[in-house]
Amino acid sequence: MTQSSDTSPRPCPECGAPPVAGLNCGEQLGAVLAWEWQDPELSAQHFLTVASYNLQHPAQFTAAAYAGLRAAFIDHLDNGLPVAEIRRRISHVAEGSQRVLQPEAERRFVLRPWPQTIADVYLPDQPEGAAGRVRAWAASIRAEFATESNP
Ligand SMILES: [Zn+2]
Repeated sequence: MTQSSDTSPRPCPECGAPPVAGLNCGEQLGAVLAWEWQDPELSAQHFLTVASYNLQHPAQFTAAAYAGLRAAFIDHLDNGLPVAEIRRRISHVAEGSQRVLQPEAERRFVLRPWPQTIADVYLPDQPEGAAGRVRAWAASIRAEFATESNP
């Protein structure tokens, strides 16, 4: 007898993150964001957490919105662009406004392997050190971007 109703989480079709403790990639992000309530250092990295996640999930964004987020992320890491300034510049991206989102029917998930994903930040029952793991995750994404040819 075959069992075709397997509902166990699978690796993310976009960022490739494996399921962790039964949580898919988006649920792992939710768990990390929930830790922010008790971790001021992690809370201070909120922009990096959300931006890193979004940059590894480009299908939902228009190309222009993605490029704006990527540029702000790089400016923040390389030049210390303040988060408040980023919010002014791309608040529509950060807030998930409809005009930056690709219509669902036009979203195409393309798997891209990354050195680190949310699964490297979300360690079950180990909120300690999450801020440092977010910074390492963001740095790994920045390094990936640096290897891409600049237009
Ligand atoms: Zn993912």
